[in-house]
Amino acid sequence: MQPLLIGDQRPRGQSAIRVMEPAHARPLDEVAAAGPQDLDGAVAAAKKAFPMWSALSVVARADLLFRFSDLVREHGEELAKLEARNVGKPIGGARWEAGHVADTLRYYAGAADKFFGHTIGTNKGGIDLTLHDPLGVVGLIVPWNFPMVIATWKLAPALACGNTVVLKPASLTPLSALRLGELALEAGIPPGVVNVVPGPGAAIGAALASHPDVAKIGFTGETATGRAIMAAAAQTIKRIGLELGGKSPNIIFADVDIQEVASQAAGSVFDNAGQDCCARSRIIVERKIAEPFIEALKATTEAIVVGDPLDEKTQMGPLVSQGQRERVESYIGIGQNEGAKLVCGGKRPEGEGYFLRPAAFAEAHPRMRIVDEEIFGPVVVVLTFDTEDEAVALANDTIYGLSGSLWTNDLKRGLRVARAVKTGNMSVNSSSSVHLQAPFGGYKQSGLGRELGMYAMEHYTEVKNIYFETR
Ligand code: NAD
Repeated sequence: MQPLLIGDQRPRGQSAIRVMEPAHARPLDEVAAAGPQDLDGAVAAAKKAFPMWSALSVVARADLLFRFSDLVREHGEELAKLEARNVGKPIGGARWEAGHVADTLRYYAGAADKFFGHTIGTNKGGIDLTLHDPLGVVGLIVPWNFPMVIATWKLAPALACGNTVVLKPASLTPLSALRLGELALEAGIPPGVVNVVPGPGAAIGAALASHPDVAKIGFTGETATGRAIMAAAAQTIKRIGLELGGKSPNIIFADVDIQEVASQAAGSVFDNAGQDCCARSRIIVERKIAEPFIEALKATTEAIVVGDPLDEKTQMGPLVSQGQRERVESYIGIGQNEGAKLVCGGKRPEGEGYFLRPAAFAEAHPRMRIVDEEIFGPVVVVLTFDTEDEAVALANDTIYGLSGSLWTNDLKRGLRVARAVKTGNMSVNSSSSVHLQAPFGGYKQSGLGRELGMYAMEHYTEVKNIYFETR
């Protein structure tokens, strides 16, 4: 059994988590689950390490993070295989993710000594200095869909700013977080700076979110869990960063290459088996091309190679768990009962593992549950519009606002519509949402705060203003 990682100790926790390999529906490993005392121990270890870590020079912290990044790169294949087997993601994508983790650590290692305050003249004649102070102990609670990527988006800026962390991975996918914790120690980051405590969200996650010695929670997960964390954090006025759910639009105007955009649209929702907060799961297509577009979408969706994540040819792996597959299947039934037309997919292929063929629905409308709710699986719905205003209204007709794309060859329209859609990230003629150097995060019920780029550094620090009298 893999133990917890608390300071320089490896305790065996209160119980055990059986970690599955979804492609084969069989156990992959066993991991210790933290109990309340373990969690208190992890927070205490982080609190003890904070004065030393925050007092290190920014250059010394950067050096250690650069070494951490190098080690992740050296262990890239091992981490990619671990993630591919535990989450069920195709190995090609998992390799990209391992490289992205190393890049993220390197970016924030580089940022550590380039993030500073201002000197501000004031009407009193003296001068104000602003400093960015680290917050203290930061609790990081992450989901199962991109376990090591999302952990690192938080871990790297938190450490670069001088905070110490307690990382709680999702119970389905704790392996890469534990391995990252070990590599941090191997890189020379002192014990207690990074602590990793797998455990049940409702107990250990909730205890972290309400712990009096934790200054901030960086959370990624469902909107409902985000609400619970916000409420728990309110008791001690904790800082919170929330990256929550999405139901992102993919607006397609009639002046595009239909085949190319259909293939992009399929990729942008079925990657990671649709278990992606940025999945463009609502296609909003101009009515005059709807018919040929849906035909092209059907053809490209049916051609997706679903199979073993470790096979280089695989484009889509299994769902992460039996429960997640059943949840997605229930939405396929709901969609059919609501009167939408299932164009393709939605069936289990033969054999073991939690596989499901990617599904597309046409004749979908707002207020159908498959249109309004985040399914978090390989299901896309197609809606139609006649005018640009209608397209924008449909795109904005959601409680979410995380991501989105639009496709057109009219540049002015592209910028106009991108500005009008209420979402934190909008891509024009592209399916990409994540750029390490640029901010990422949600409007509305998709979240609070921003990750990535230099924006993340602001969210892991407190601004101090010192007034200096000069007369
Ligand atoms: P989840 O909310 O169920 O769990 C996320 C984490 O929170 C897990 O570690 C879990 O153990 C913990 N948790 C659960 N209940 C808790 C509680 N009461 N208090 C504290 N912690 C608790 O989410 P999930 O099912 O793991 O992930 C899927 C969701 O994550 C989707 O809604 C998806 O859109 C969202 N997501 C968002 C982003 C983003 O950047 N906006 C990225 C990836 C995933």
